[in-house]
Amino acid sequence: MDLRYTNDELAFRDEVRAFLKDNLPEEIRQKMIDGESMDKQDLVTWSRILNEKGWAVPHWPTEYGGTGWDPMRQYIFLEETQKWPAPQPLAFGVNMVGPVIYTFGNEAQKKRYLPAIANLDDWWCQGFSEPGAGSDLASLKTRAVREGDHYVVNGQKTWTTLAQYADWIFCLVRTDPDAKKQSGISFLLIDMKTPGIEVRPIVTIDGGREINEVFLTDVKVPVENLVGEENKGWDYAKFLLGNERTNIARIGMSKQRIARIRELAAKEMSSGRPLIEDERFREKLASVEIDLKALELTQLRVVAADAKRGNTGKPDPASSILKIKGSEIQQATTHLLMQVMGPHALPYHTGDADGSNELPIEPDYAATAAPGYFNFRKVSIYGGSNEIQKNIIAKAVLGL
Ligand SMILES: Cc1cc2nc3c(=O)[nH]c(=O)nc-3n(C[C@H](O)[C@H](O)[C@H](O)COP(=O)(O)OP(=O)(O)OC[C@H]3O[C@@H](n4cnc5c(N)ncnc54)[C@H](O)[C@@H]3O)c2cc1C
Repeated sequence: MDLRYTNDELAFRDEVRAFLKDNLPEEIRQKMIDGESMDKQDLVTWSRILNEKGWAVPHWPTEYGGTGWDPMRQYIFLEETQKWPAPQPLAFGVNMVGPVIYTFGNEAQKKRYLPAIANLDDWWCQGFSEPGAGSDLASLKTRAVREGDHYVVNGQKTWTTLAQYADWIFCLVRTDPDAKKQSGISFLLIDMKTPGIEVRPIVTIDGGREINEVFLTDVKVPVENLVGEENKGWDYAKFLLGNERTNIARIGMSKQRIARIRELAAKEMSSGRPLIEDERFREKLASVEIDLKALELTQLRVVAADAKRGNTGKPDPASSILKIKGSEIQQATTHLLMQVMGPHALPYHTGDADGSNELPIEPDYAATAAPGYFNFRKVSIYGGSNEIQKNIIAKAVLGL
């Protein structure tokens, strides 16, 4: 299998690079390089620039705004945007609920929701997990009872990322408590302005405020907001979770972080010489780079196989391998960045605009290393924990 880019693909890569250079606002790029968190407006601005170009939802079918790129071009686009680095689109809309709506939704839902996702007019969040229903998601208890032309929803969702900004939440709810647990679940679209919804922040270990609890008390949801058929929500959720994993390796992001580690390790001194000249440090860096190269080749093999099969829209079970290795490498790079900063990483910015745990010691850029390190512990948990991915590999890849 030849995994090198063709001349056409190289020309496409240059086109993407030129677009990023000319169109991503410099202050947003700088925040990405410095590891600062994006605010809502940054993402809205960038999503609208992409949408204007027709590149906001490249993997969607062309009739709903997709580009018609083959899997290799999709991959090149993803890698280049991560490497630049540009913000990634809001996954809850673009990668999760959007594909569910165009695959299982009705015409009215496609018309109402898809353009607003592409332009980030609607900010979506994901209401799947509950206390007691994470890996074992089908144990969820949030209840929806049909009363005439609406459902009445009661329950609690948790770990709901960026719900504080959300206009809409897509929720798994139990509509038939007597059915086998996977069979009694439905997929509802809920307007966050509906009375009875309360969002409470969960402060993360890095001081960030990106996740929340969402409480639903007697929330009235019109029946027209049901996606697909009642009690078939588990099928739509499986489809969504498979898509969630496909782009989770974030190879471009790790490449960008390794370039940053090299740049900063050339400035930071250790025992009288730049850290990058220290053999032990170079050994650790090389080991992560080798893992990343191997992951890139695995990803390219998955993409090439996908291109050959024709894009079926069904995730390859090998995406679980990409998720495990990708998240381990992302964590390893945040660890290396902490090592580069050494004691300078101790005073750090928290997610609050005014927040720092101590006065900074020079240099300024060190302040995001520790929160980044702590924050990235999450990548081996969300999107299906790495232990669960190993179960999937055992069954679906190794046939055990
Ligand atoms: C930062 C962050 C953001 C998130 N954002 C969202 C969001 O926006 N929306 C949303 O719905 N959810 C979100 N989640 C929730 C996430 O999907 C769950 O945390 C995840 O599915 C794990 O569930 P749990 O936390 O309940 O852990 P548990 O399921 O209780 O697992 C605890 C531990 O046991 C292990 N384990 C569990 N079952 C098995 C098994 N069968 N075999 C082997 N090991 C097992 C797990 O791997 C884990 O290590 C987010 C989580 C985090 C950390």
